[in-house]
Amino acid sequence: MTEDLSSRPRPAEAGARRPSTGVEIDRVKVGGGAPVVVQSMTNTDTEDPVSTAKQVAELARAGSELVRITVNTPAAAAAVPRIRERLDMMGVSVPLIGDFHYNGHQLLEGEPACAEALAKYRINPGNVGFGKKKDAQFASIIEMAIRYGKPVRIGANWGSLDQSMVAALMDENSQRANPWDAGHVAREALIRSALDSAARAEDLGLPRDRIILSCKVSGVQELIAVYRDLARRGDYALHLGLTEAGMGSKGITASSAALAVLLQEGIGDTIRISLTPEPGQSRTGEVIVAQELLQTMGLRAFTPLVTACPGCGRTTSEFFQELAKTVQGHVRERMPEWRVKYDGVENLTLAVMGCVVNGPGESKHANIGISLPGNGEAPSAPVFIDGEKSLTLRGDNIADEFVAILDNYVETHYATRQD
Ligand code: SF4
Repeated sequence: MTEDLSSRPRPAEAGARRPSTGVEIDRVKVGGGAPVVVQSMTNTDTEDPVSTAKQVAELARAGSELVRITVNTPAAAAAVPRIRERLDMMGVSVPLIGDFHYNGHQLLEGEPACAEALAKYRINPGNVGFGKKKDAQFASIIEMAIRYGKPVRIGANWGSLDQSMVAALMDENSQRANPWDAGHVAREALIRSALDSAARAEDLGLPRDRIILSCKVSGVQELIAVYRDLARRGDYALHLGLTEAGMGSKGITASSAALAVLLQEGIGDTIRISLTPEPGQSRTGEVIVAQELLQTMGLRAFTPLVTACPGCGRTTSEFFQELAKTVQGHVRERMPEWRVKYDGVENLTLAVMGCVVNGPGESKHANIGISLPGNGEAPSAPVFIDGEKSLTLRGDNIADEFVAILDNYVETHYATRQD
């Protein structure tokens, strides 16, 4: 690696946001100029209030600002107020969103305490009901939202498109002088499903500042095309997410690629990264990816991030990789406490570099940086604080000493919160 990082320009400012109608979900504002909100979804059985409340709390503590739970049976609907109570007792105030399919109208009518405890309802216009019942069931859910003063996400999905609408659009398309291809017709069906449902919700009396839209697909290019079009055709607040993104690096890459393009264009008011966890893996991974996506794009700051070089033939040991991991892990572990105590600590920048080639330069750009010795270099590690060489670490305790410098910096450089 020969690029001179010390002369690299700092990132440009993130672009302007698309104007959208703000929606209040309890104390969390989505759209209307608010910062892009991170949300997530549980994978526990909602009928089990203990495990569901535990996972919601984990997601909230990881930084999820809204958490969605499946509400699919009468027992799940009955459990919702108990989940809310448990969370309140744990001091976790994150708003809960109920995810309804097929029987949402019955569940909300049958369990008024569920309708009250939820902060928002999510419905899919493609499976809110079928045939003649569809309009009545959709209206019933919207009327419940009006009665309880709740916002609604109208979330259309590629996998559950309203087939009668697709058929009507196919007929319409066949009359065109230059017919669209099948993909274009399907995208239009998805967008119209969301927009027509939103217009109907407004006709029924749900104000626009209580409506959020989403049109989820599983392909990166399709998602970008759909949301660009959706964003042009209205000012509803938009929920962004690539559905069925997949596992591990594939899911992270696909979601980041799609969402980054849209966010850079100012599109998207709240995001969810739909990762499939590995068996036994924490659900919180999707929250960390969402935060890191927004933070690396300069849209939000959640936690100090560590800049680290990738390593190369100039480093023979893994020490600097381990140090980078130790420092990032330490920051994540301390952040729940730091966030409460120290104002602005999320903007702290750190660098852990592997040799003298780019180490000092990149370290000077960080609040705290360390340049470890590469092959053939003297066994010393200069530490830079706010651009100035501050001290040199040597010996076997470099990791502990660097972490102590980090803790001291946080305690002495950020104002203590008064609230
Ligand atoms: S060790 Fe790191 S900083 Fe040094 S040349 Fe290799 S990649 Fe660049």
